[in-house]
Amino acid sequence: MDLSRFPRRRYSQGPSPIEFLPNFTEALGGPRVWIKRDDMLGLTPGGNKTRKLEFLMGDALAAGADTLVTCGAPQSNHCRITLAAAVKEGLKCRFVIEERVPGSYHPDATGNNFMFRLLGVEAITVVPGGTNMAQAMEHVAQELRAAGRKPYIIPGGGSNAIGGLGYVACAQELQQQLLEMGQPMDYVVVGSGSSGTHGGLVAGFLGNNIHIPLVGVGVSRDPADQDPLVLKEAQAIMDLLGVNIQVPREAVLSFGDWWRPKYSVPNPAMVEAVQMLARTEAILLDPVYTGKIMAGLIGLSRKGYFKPQDNVLFLHTGGATALHAYESVVLGDPAAAA
Ligand SMILES: *Cc1c(COP(=O)(O)O)cnc(C)c1O
Repeated sequence: MDLSRFPRRRYSQGPSPIEFLPNFTEALGGPRVWIKRDDMLGLTPGGNKTRKLEFLMGDALAAGADTLVTCGAPQSNHCRITLAAAVKEGLKCRFVIEERVPGSYHPDATGNNFMFRLLGVEAITVVPGGTNMAQAMEHVAQELRAAGRKPYIIPGGGSNAIGGLGYVACAQELQQQLLEMGQPMDYVVVGSGSSGTHGGLVAGFLGNNIHIPLVGVGVSRDPADQDPLVLKEAQAIMDLLGVNIQVPREAVLSFGDWWRPKYSVPNPAMVEAVQMLARTEAILLDPVYTGKIMAGLIGLSRKGYFKPQDNVLFLHTGGATALHAYESVVLGDPAAAA
């Protein structure tokens, strides 16, 4: 798949590393777990949104934008990384923050909220859970246009067809790395939220004939609701690329057993996963996404879905900045996080 005709900015030095996790593998009793460190990508610190922003920012600059408008939850990694990209490019940035958990936004909170202020967000509009975010962002954009400015709206999670190109690029990067390592993988485990990451990998795997099964772990929805979003995103990416591939329904698989009780609300399996990776490999996960996604990998291993001899690659999508907003939970007894 040829991505070269899409404008792209670069925010990382090169491919994100792939590492084997010997201590974690031993603690788990198999499978053999590998990790792709998208938490080490560029921007403050980076994560999966960095890859999407490379293409979204290319498009925004080509459109002559001077201000980014995006949205997210109170501890949004996407907002932090979008703001960081805006700072680097000399653009302003505004957020619409959705309080999915009522009362959860505190302007002086730590974690990503602190970063919003340190990096110099221009304005934040807080709206209640269930608000039409596209409309709320359009309002902000209208205000900016009325003031003679050029807003560029980035949807939640950066998950549209352009943002998804970042994970087509990741699929290609991964294919090249596995070739150089001489290391086949049996599965890739990926988080599935606003779906640009999962959908981008689905499109990139199909388009590049990578036949490794992709196992999605939902962070906010069960498969019945999540899989159609991922399918739609993957197809939108194919269409943008102009490749004549219909994404089959079977190309999308996710599990919904680890996100409850609610998006961003802790559970015991998340706390166990965060502690386990920190204490075996000194790698930080986050409480909202990768802790629950790794809980999925651990749970599927214990159920025998992954066999001890399988090689399973976990995509670390970032997010550890949010740990600081959840310190007492992630340090506590996992059972207390019920
Ligand atoms: C946004 C995010 C995800 C989910 O990715 P989507 O592309 O929204 O599905 C996973 N992990 C982290 C750390 C994130 O910030």
